[in-house]
Amino acid sequence: MFYGVMNHDYNFSEIVGHKRQIDFLKGLYSSDRMPSGLLFYGQNNIGKKFTAEVFAASVLCADYAAYFNPSSSAFSGSSLNFCGKCPSCASISNGSNQNLFVAESFGNPIKIETVHQIGSFLAFTPPYPSRRFVIIDDASVMNPSAANALLKILEEPQGETVFILITSNAGMLPPTVLSRCLPLGFAPVPDEILLNVFKLKFPDIDDVKLKLFLKLAGGSYSGFLNLVESGYLEKRDFLINNVFEELFEEFRKKGNFYDISGAFTAKFAFSEKIPKNVRNKEKNFEFEAKGGNPAFELILFILRDIYIYSVSKNEKILYNEDVADKIKRFASDFGASPKVIEHMMEITVSHIEKINSCNLNKSISADSYFSNLLSA
Ligand SMILES: [Zn+2]
Repeated sequence: MFYGVMNHDYNFSEIVGHKRQIDFLKGLYSSDRMPSGLLFYGQNNIGKKFTAEVFAASVLCADYAAYFNPSSSAFSGSSLNFCGKCPSCASISNGSNQNLFVAESFGNPIKIETVHQIGSFLAFTPPYPSRRFVIIDDASVMNPSAANALLKILEEPQGETVFILITSNAGMLPPTVLSRCLPLGFAPVPDEILLNVFKLKFPDIDDVKLKLFLKLAGGSYSGFLNLVESGYLEKRDFLINNVFEELFEEFRKKGNFYDISGAFTAKFAFSEKIPKNVRNKEKNFEFEAKGGNPAFELILFILRDIYIYSVSKNEKILYNEDVADKIKRFASDFGASPKVIEHMMEITVSHIEKINSCNLNKSISADSYFSNLLSA
């Protein structure tokens, strides 16, 4: 079991955005109205799970202090937070806290075995009087037998246990489960808040790039961080300056796809396919083992801008506004009509779906992909 919460060097007071939700949770705690079920809903990757973990860690920290050290001024009300040092906090950071269970789906439906683990967790008597938390991430992608088993658990009184169900699709949860939870909606973090936080965090990134990341992150703090840390701009610029230049040249002269595919594959990580001398000479981008293929998603993104510009001639609405000159050139000089670009986007989408659904040999698949693009 992995607890993300202590891996962050900030806590309640520094969660980006979600002030109303945090105040609401602190209010439940300070007025002693903790419900047995909470449902955190809202779009993916905006901080719901992190908020749930920080809330649980903070209440457990306060309960620990109240029992073992009642004379200390334990956290209360609006100052609720976790200390990061007490045995409760320490055991959360190493995954051994007996009052917190976090079920993560890692993209797969929650299985009945996980719900059975929750049952065993609840059957165990906590070592001292404390509330207990069960956090279930992606609760709406549970398979039906798991959902039924969970419902049985929710129907029985579980003492001071608080269930926090997290979902980006509350409509998929069985109404019987929904009816047992107090709903709390989360909205994407407003751009101004993200921008201010990231200006402080990354003073070296200029405003134009920060604003590009902001557009791409869609109100997600972790999404923003991921874009900065994954070298998004470096990859995008390689694609624009090498792959796209080549693609449209070959497209114009009805050439072949070998050079494009070669440049692409040498740079983007089919690790066993890259000759050693190439690897040593150049920095290559690694594909992520799971979770799709970021390079093709980036290509789609660039194609989207070329399409948008070719139909609107408006550079202000481009995502990649900082490289508008290139986008304009691809849209106008290379003789690919909006219809052709649209077709290239369709080819890319179906290619991404193919990669996600089966384990294609990626270098062969890149050849066929670029060959399809050229005949679009
Ligand atoms: Zn603590």
